[in-house]
Amino acid sequence: LIQVNNMTHGYKMAGESMTVLKDLSFTIDFGEFVAIIGPSGSGKSTLMNMLGCLDISDEGSYLLDGQEVRKLSDNKLAAIRNEKIGFIFQSFNLLPKLSAAENVELPLIYRGLSHRERKQLAHEALVKVGLEDRMHHRPSELSGGQQQRVAIARAMAGSPPILLADEPTGALDTRTGHEVMQMIQELNKQGHTIILITHDLEIANQAKRIIRIQDGNLVEDRRNAR
Ligand code: ATP
Ligand code: MG
Repeated sequence: LIQVNNMTHGYKMAGESMTVLKDLSFTIDFGEFVAIIGPSGSGKSTLMNMLGCLDISDEGSYLLDGQEVRKLSDNKLAAIRNEKIGFIFQSFNLLPKLSAAENVELPLIYRGLSHRERKQLAHEALVKVGLEDRMHHRPSELSGGQQQRVAIARAMAGSPPILLADEPTGALDTRTGHEVMQMIQELNKQGHTIILITHDLEIANQAKRIIRIQDGNLVEDRRNAR
């Protein structure tokens, strides 16, 4: 599903360039549940941007479902991203002026679905995360855990095969974080491929496989005995 070969990437700041990802190679198959761990600044979010086709690495190749991402036009890339990948972030990234349902519908607009189909899918996704009675609330009227559930509903509404989650429990208390992790576990059981970024080892241990990044290098890739 995901094939990364010799991926290298850097940023230029104030005339100085800094390499953040260094010659990374790994593959992730359909249905895997992978945690990417590493200290702050090690390059996890940068890698997530690459895997999510939000950015393209300076060097190396990234094959998503057999397609070399570098060779795709911007339109094609956006279409693939929309079809294949759901995102959730530490800060939820919901639009404050839209209701829960409208937030969930948003990415479906880019798929060319009718208004009716979008409403239907958004409704189903919100029911799945247990927010049927909060559909018309705005983010500010929801708790952190509820907001993250809206974000999960938004990520999964069109049922993309891959869920990319960058510190999804980082802003939540332990118990609420646990609930969100259970939802992510459930999505994996249903066959979705999960890539979860965290620096919390306890969270990472819920994944089936752990990839550790340090200073932009892949220093460990192991399967969890569970
Ligand atoms: P954290 O756990 O704190 O989220 P991270 O592992 O996700 O850290 P990244 O966000 O990938 O780390 O950042 C890796 C390095 O790249 C850091 O030193 C950061 O300052 C730098 N960096 C990230 N994004 C940019 C950018 N857009 N421009 C310049 N430098 C950047
Ligand atoms: Mg990060």
